[in-house]
Amino acid sequence: MITVKRLSKSFGDHEVLKNISIQVERQEVVCIIGPSGSGKSTLLRCLNLMETPTSGDVWVEGENLLDPRTDINKFRRKMGMVFQQFNLFPHMTALENITLAPTKLNRKSKTESGILARELLKKVGLTDKADAYPRSLSGGQQQRVAIARALAMEPHVMLFDEPTSALDPEMVGEVLQVMRQLAKEGMTMIIVTHEMGFAREVADRVIFMDNGMVVEEGKPGEMFVSPQNERTKLFLSKVL
Ligand code: ADP
Ligand code: MG
Repeated sequence: MITVKRLSKSFGDHEVLKNISIQVERQEVVCIIGPSGSGKSTLLRCLNLMETPTSGDVWVEGENLLDPRTDINKFRRKMGMVFQQFNLFPHMTALENITLAPTKLNRKSKTESGILARELLKKVGLTDKADAYPRSLSGGQQQRVAIARALAMEPHVMLFDEPTSALDPEMVGEVLQVMRQLAKEGMTMIIVTHEMGFAREVADRVIFMDNGMVVEEGKPGEMFVSPQNERTKLFLSKVL
């Protein structure tokens, strides 16, 4: 579904991604782990061209995103993104946050996107919060609205960048539960996370990044139990 080939990204003369090649299959759940500053967020941002790679290729569903003839906006809509900071529109209710993009971009009617939004609120366990404003919601609830908002575009893949890192510990579980459910339903997901327990349980594959490179990848049962690379070992010894 996604193929990244020899992707590099520099900011000025600082090369933050170095020759990254990865592949993600349809319905696969891939967790990306690694120390702060290793380039995880930049890699996710290159996947939907929020950042432009300096070199390399990104293929999504058989089309090269870096080909100037490719309709980038069409591809962005196929990729839902959820960030550490929920970034809900503060002056809009949960329902309005979710219906905004589909009504504007998918040319769905208000009624259609309203029905979908209520289904999605149910899916994330917030049926009763349709008319609530973000400030009246907890962090965990806001993040679940943000996930529903991303799902409203009916994406083919969901990208998560540390979706639970800004949450109080007691709210982490409810967000991970929604993600676990999505994975079960077969959503293709790429998740940057520090939740090693979650990665171990839900990921089909784990990618360890350090210093702008993919250092090691493998099944969670293998990588968490017997990491091969010294840097992976060192990192895991600190976080497990
Ligand atoms: P991670 O998500 O693994 O913590 P990032 O992808 O955020 O890592 O950052 C990787 C490196 O790229 C860091 O050194 C960071 O300072 C640098 N970086 C990220 N975004 C920018 C930017 N827009 N301009 C300059 N440097 C950046
Ligand atoms: Mg990051």
